[in-house]
Amino acid sequence: MSHHETIETVATKDIVGIYQPGSTHMVGDGFPVRNLFPSNELDREVSPFLMLDYAGPQYFTPTDHPRGVGEHPHRGFETVTIVYEGMVAHRDSAGNAGVIGPGDVQWMTAASGIVHEEFHEREFAKKGGTLHAIQLWVNLPRASKMSAPGYQTILNGDIPVIDLDGGVGQLRVIAGSYLGHKGPAHTVTPVELYDLQVKAGKGVALALPEGHNASVFVLQGSASVNGGQAAGEAQLIVCTRHGSQITVVAHEDSRFLVMAGEPIEEPIARYGPFVMNTKAELMQAMQDYQAGKMGHLN
Ligand code: MN
Repeated sequence: MSHHETIETVATKDIVGIYQPGSTHMVGDGFPVRNLFPSNELDREVSPFLMLDYAGPQYFTPTDHPRGVGEHPHRGFETVTIVYEGMVAHRDSAGNAGVIGPGDVQWMTAASGIVHEEFHEREFAKKGGTLHAIQLWVNLPRASKMSAPGYQTILNGDIPVIDLDGGVGQLRVIAGSYLGHKGPAHTVTPVELYDLQVKAGKGVALALPEGHNASVFVLQGSASVNGGQAAGEAQLIVCTRHGSQITVVAHEDSRFLVMAGEPIEEPIARYGPFVMNTKAELMQAMQDYQAGKMGHLN
């Protein structure tokens, strides 16, 4: 046998693809969104994430009648709303209410079912302004789909900010951990969610767990992941679950949402605001909602 020098290498998560928004629509009259998935037929590749709606940035004229989306249900997953500009107000049938603004995150666990509304906050609507936000849906495993609903308001000041060495930029840990800094969000399955800013011409190598799906959404600027093709504003770079590192190099001052997590390997049955494992469970969800079992807003 010949001698080979052993070189320590870190396996890189390869790129599955770069995706444009697959559909554009209004959610109520307040959230003009570009959808990245499921419209791109991404499912296994982005699990445990189920949906990414990119709202705005769009200017809204002043009004005394806040725009948004009225009473509607959810069951079987979590909705995570990240606000970059503007103010969003929420109210649900579990008795939770909150207002989130720039840098804040709302992590709502619908689980067995809630009814809620999502509107521009009244004073923000009155003044008019730009709304810029992301709503992510995070799946729940079968064992947690019928758990009690929950609600976490995560304020800007609760989110650790890590300055990346050498003036590269900064990383805010919303969920999971980065270099020992733990994000404030409580998640049901392992999730990493980072708000990442990288300066033009700089790059960062991010360690992400082997076996976790990983993707990078570009909010602003342009970047290459792992030396691949550049992706620009509103594009999503999806990586493989195999590997334990990605390298993000920014071509302009850029901002990203980095999403990773342990895939939930269970069947997905979805119908509008309900995401369960089987069609029978979806039927049950509709019946329960119509029977008022998910509650009502006061
Ligand atoms: Mn909703």
